[in-house]
Amino acid sequence: MQTVEQTLEKLGRSKFRAGFHLDDKDRQYVREKGESVIKMHAEAFIAERLAPAQPRNDGKQTPMRGHPVFKAQHACACCCRGCLNKWYGVPLGRALTGEEQSRIVNLLMSWIRKQL
Ligand SMILES: [Zn+2]
Repeated sequence: MQTVEQTLEKLGRSKFRAGFHLDDKDRQYVREKGESVIKMHAEAFIAERLAPAQPRNDGKQTPMRGHPVFKAQHACACCCRGCLNKWYGVPLGRALTGEEQSRIVNLLMSWIRKQL
């Protein structure tokens, strides 16, 4: 199993994934809300949009902007089940476990922290 640091390093070698950044507005939003609230948003997005066995609009459920967590999802290849499958070998067609969800959230929060 890869560590968060190893995963972030691997993602950084993908031109597409490394092209996502938080802008000033995103950073300000994270600072205003605080990390614990952003983490709750991340947990909710992952639970609702990614965790079901058949997520709605899978492949297109994560906007490119509009919330720092969305950008983190693209940067971390946690945007849809296809990317989770390709990057992390998570099987398609079954719900994500609680542990998988919390690992995704931890990865997203680590990426966000590095962007601040
Ligand atoms: Zn994707």
